Amino acid sequence: MEAQARRVVVISTGGTIASRWQGTGFAADAPGREVLATAAIPQGIASEVIDLFNVNSPRLTSAQQLTLLRTVHEVLADPAVDGIVVTHGTDTLEESAFLLDLYHHDSRPVVFTGAQKPLGATDGDGPGNLYDALLTAATVRDLGVLVVFDGKVHAARGTVKTQTLAADAFADPSGPRVGKVGFGKVSILHRPERPAPLPLPAAVSLPRIDMVMHHVDADPLLLETAVQAGAQGVVLVATGAG
Ligand code: ASP
Repeated sequence: MEAQARRVVVISTGGTIASRWQGTGFAADAPGREVLATAAIPQGIASEVIDLFNVNSPRLTSAQQLTLLRTVHEVLADPAVDGIVVTHGTDTLEESAFLLDLYHHDSRPVVFTGAQKPLGATDGDGPGNLYDALLTAATVRDLGVLVVFDGKVHAARGTVKTQTLAADAFADPSGPRVGKVGFGKVSILHRPERPAPLPLPAAVSLPRIDMVMHHVDADPLLLETAVQAGAQGVVLVATGAG
């Protein structure tokens, strides 16, 4: 009897992996099925697409991130789903992945991926990254939310975009890499510690929180402006040990 295909749901949110030339620059506009059609699908995997957004990730809002979080939990409510892939712009991918990881309570993985080169680029990295992400989503367990990029598997927690344009865009400067993908195989080299998941947040609008960066010659002007704009909190990006 033929083994049943493993079911992976791809949630498409935009980013360079879905971007095309618009005359003055690249912008996300391709639907998820078109993005998925660029990639080979690993054997034994059945994929389906949810078109959630189509944005370049610097324009993403926290309301959209919470929608993504809820969508992931709705998809995982179906026990027939084996894993999830989220295609996402690389610029704020680390933020969305970390947010989802805080609430992840399931042994099945959520795997973020994207591309440094746009849809249809002859030397594009999107198709390979998507293939690796599908394979990872279908096979690993108990690793939480992951970032799969350029043949590497990273834990969401601790991983940041370290390269603006290079294909090997993500790394965790604070810890060992989780694994690698190559020749149709996912190899797990290190299992990250999993903190207890938070309960899902209530559907409330989030307070305004601003970020202000300290630098030589910095004065309180931007802090005061944030408070005047109604910020309920300010994150001061400080120097040294803060
Ligand atoms: N440069 C970004 C990317 O690689 C654009 C974005 O984050 O949407 O996807």
